[in-house]
Amino acid sequence: MCDKEYVGFATLPNQVHRKSVKKGFDFTLMVAGESGLGKSTLVNSLFLTDLYKDRKLLNAEERITQTVEITKHTVDIEEKGVKLKLTIVDTPGFGDAVNNTECWKSVADYIDQQFEQYFRDESGLNRKNIQDNRVHCCLYFISPFGHGLRPLDVEFMKALHEKVNIVPILAKADTLTPTEVKKKKIKIREEIEQYGIKIYQFPDCDSDEDEDFKQQDHQLKESIPFAVIGSNTVVEAKGKRVRGRLYPWGIVEVENSAHCDFVKLRNMLVRTHMQDLKDVTRETHYENYRAHCIQNMTRMVVKERNRNKLTRESGTDFPLPVVPGVGDETEKLIREKDEEVRHADQQPDSHHHYDHEHESEHYSAHHEPSESESNAGTHTDQRDLSDEAL
Ligand code: GDP
Repeated sequence: MCDKEYVGFATLPNQVHRKSVKKGFDFTLMVAGESGLGKSTLVNSLFLTDLYKDRKLLNAEERITQTVEITKHTVDIEEKGVKLKLTIVDTPGFGDAVNNTECWKSVADYIDQQFEQYFRDESGLNRKNIQDNRVHCCLYFISPFGHGLRPLDVEFMKALHEKVNIVPILAKADTLTPTEVKKKKIKIREEIEQYGIKIYQFPDCDSDEDEDFKQQDHQLKESIPFAVIGSNTVVEAKGKRVRGRLYPWGIVEVENSAHCDFVKLRNMLVRTHMQDLKDVTRETHYENYRAHCIQNMTRMVVKERNRNKLTRESGTDFPLPVVPGVGDETEKLIREKDEEVRHADQQPDSHHHYDHEHESEHYSAHHEPSESESNAGTHTDQRDLSDEAL
């Protein structure tokens, strides 16, 4: 019996692997929740970098009037030759002010602006080097001191659950006993269900996966909300140097799975579900935004067409291009001015050149933008503003 002949497409995964490694990966993670819940500490512990070197902490007075200001930190991390551009989007001050109504709005706007930017780039001429700033995951920090979810938590998650993958986090788990953690998790999961909050759903495991994998998957689903502990200090526990928090009665270790779900969260984010979080962002959240945008654009075109139909002379079969503001009278004026300019241009005097420019400026000032033009203007303004905010 002769050996089975191979064409060679079994190398396809290697080709994909080589190409992606060369290109590098990117991931954008958002952290949200009231300040002081340990967001920055956790992010630093997760990626073993100091992302908040130049952070300025506000005093109570500043925080009262503070609106939700969004900041972005980017680091390039490399591990075994694989490069990851990690962006952390922070929402400091969230929930701090006295009046917190609609404090989720600027976060929702931020996510939409990134979708809008991507949509514009994708519809543009050069699609080769698009920078993807879409938010792939939002870690939402829940206070360990309340009784389950607060109204603000419900409002925030409901406002964002169709725009981003929300992963709920039970902050500062070292302030609770194991029984309390268990009870709080059950309560929070029940409330998430009761209020119809759609958090990120881990994909179901295939039936042919091995038992270990199935077990891990089950444990991951049961861990929601991840009870975490963050620390930026290294302490000595049982002769080993570990990241942890030192208390008079003992040490809590960040990476000890008997103490908290930190390792589970990190594995989920980095090792097992990073690609799925990106896929869901692209296939569900961005697709929803895109469909919504296209629907609005179609509606605008139909409206414009109907308006043109009304202004068109009856009996004409061709849609005449309507330039708003340019009527018979204006056209006559333009023709007269053109004539004047042509006449002036024939005389070699630099002054006239200035007049020429001046006239054209004068004309453009009278040219009313069409609806689509003025809309485009609004969009650019919005983007400029958001860039400034960063
Ligand atoms: P952020 O405002 O949400 O970014 O919070 P920070 O990371 O600045 O942390 C606020 C305070 O909480 C700091 O004093 C931290 O040392 C402390 N902290 C951070 N993580 C934990 C934790 O897991 N447990 C406890 N008990 N304290 C923490």
